[in-house]
Amino acid sequence: MSRTIEPNSRVRSMRHIRPVNQSRTTPRTRSHAGEQALRDHSGRCIEPVVCICPHFEDQMHFCLGSFAVLAPGARWFHSKQAIKDPLRKGAPEMTRAIIIGGGIAGPTAAMALQRVGIEAVLYEAHPRTTGEVGSYFTVTPNGLGALRAIGALHTATAIGFPTHKNVLWNDRGRRLGTIPLGEPLPDGTVSQTIKRARLSRALQDEAIRRGVHVEFGKRLVDASTSADGRVVARFQDGSEAIGDLLVGADGVHSVTRHIIDPSAPGGRYVGLVNFGGYTSNGGVVAEREAWHLIFGRRAFFGYNVSASGDAVWFANVPRQEVTPSERASTSAESWKCQLLELFADDRGPAVDLIRRGKLELAADNTYDLPHVPTWHNGRMIIIGDAAHAPAPSSGQGASMAMEDAVVLAKALRDVPDIPAAFDTYEQLRRERVERIVAEGARGSSSKTPGALGRLVRDLMLPIVFRFFVREKSLAWMYNYRVDLDSPVRLDARTA
Ligand SMILES: Cc1cc2nc3c(=O)[nH]c(=O)nc-3n(C[C@H](O)[C@H](O)[C@H](O)COP(=O)(O)OP(=O)(O)OC[C@H]3O[C@@H](n4cnc5c(N)ncnc54)[C@H](O)[C@@H]3O)c2cc1C
Repeated sequence: MSRTIEPNSRVRSMRHIRPVNQSRTTPRTRSHAGEQALRDHSGRCIEPVVCICPHFEDQMHFCLGSFAVLAPGARWFHSKQAIKDPLRKGAPEMTRAIIIGGGIAGPTAAMALQRVGIEAVLYEAHPRTTGEVGSYFTVTPNGLGALRAIGALHTATAIGFPTHKNVLWNDRGRRLGTIPLGEPLPDGTVSQTIKRARLSRALQDEAIRRGVHVEFGKRLVDASTSADGRVVARFQDGSEAIGDLLVGADGVHSVTRHIIDPSAPGGRYVGLVNFGGYTSNGGVVAEREAWHLIFGRRAFFGYNVSASGDAVWFANVPRQEVTPSERASTSAESWKCQLLELFADDRGPAVDLIRRGKLELAADNTYDLPHVPTWHNGRMIIIGDAAHAPAPSSGQGASMAMEDAVVLAKALRDVPDIPAAFDTYEQLRRERVERIVAEGARGSSSKTPGALGRLVRDLMLPIVFRFFVREKSLAWMYNYRVDLDSPVRLDARTA
């Protein structure tokens, strides 16, 4: 009945070998892991039809009208609507998602949605960048696991370097403790330190390679639902896009958030201004594959030495927000002078790395979003920083954005209508992400205490890290894994 396709044959176009609506044979019961009958939501048996489509590169799968099944060795999944078949006249169109934002959540969501049979078109406000601006961040195994779930782990590992832990120091060079950054993935991949813009660019490239249509220079200004229930997105340049749903992955200053709920909160300034830099041939003698985080007297400093000996670093400076005019009138050299003064009394390599290094991120005000009451309305939803931005201290914003993207795709695949799928998604995500944002806020407020605070911290932290901050106590954050293949389960509160 079904023609065999060479395993690993590269699949480029969406083309059914035998249309679903041709004469049907008796519905067959096939097994998933040898047990489950191939049935739809209402228990009807459904019949496999081999198709070729771009959702699973190098993998044969069966399309079943409203279902698709991966070839041997892979698992079942289903999509809510029939996969669009250009050869079938009158076949239902594939669900189309408009994604706003090409940072981390946006391209990851586009790929995850594509995996469950939803066509995503991505709109990014900025022109395409080289990916060379800005600072570095760390993606932990929970975020890497989400990329792995959609076959995109290589986007991160190809441009990152391994980072196993955070080591904390005080301003006098005393080691206060170590924070392990979670269990490696099954293939041994540990947390990766990556240039933020480079990862964003790599995810965009991978989405484009998989056939996602991406438009740059498209800034969303408004969106509404039309009489036929579809979403119309309007862009600053006067153009429009129409889809069945809209995913706002437009960051902490999200426009989508305010379209969904005009009374939604804005980002909350966390009291720290961020700087980031890079020092070639840093010459620093330090444990590798680790972030070294120094509680300086006046500001907080972090550095990480790559295998090549180059050092990436950041500084968090407690102060009022930098205004646009201050930013415009302050040169990189002038910011560097300010940083050198702030770290002048601290032990560690801060002064040396700043003096010899290149400032790649200057005076970035940092915001968080502890609680956004409304994440979705009708067929529009926000994910990533748009819904729950943590302070950078959490080291979790990008990882959570990746988790979100995959869990959203699962919910849209498994729950029969879009608003209900959004509800399910929120139930799966809210508790976890708000807990992480709260942790991040605590971390930010304790970065530069006064003299008494420093004394207490230096006495307490070694004890806390020795007895309380262990792999086990952090497992809820780092060892959380999203599995795209399994169905969503509300009871487990895991994805
Ligand atoms: C200094 C710093 C350090 C950090 N360190 C870490 C770390 O170590 N680990 C970690 O996991 N996270 C870290 N984060 C957080 C992390 O960068 C964010 O949580 C993550 O980028 C969120 O991804 P996102 O896709 O939701 O939003 P973003 O990455 O902000 O992407 C949003 C995208 O939407 C686009 N956009 C905005 N408005 C519109 C519009 N109207 N129309 C169209 N497009 C629009 C933007 O141009 C942008 O490309 C850090 C953040 C900062 C600032």
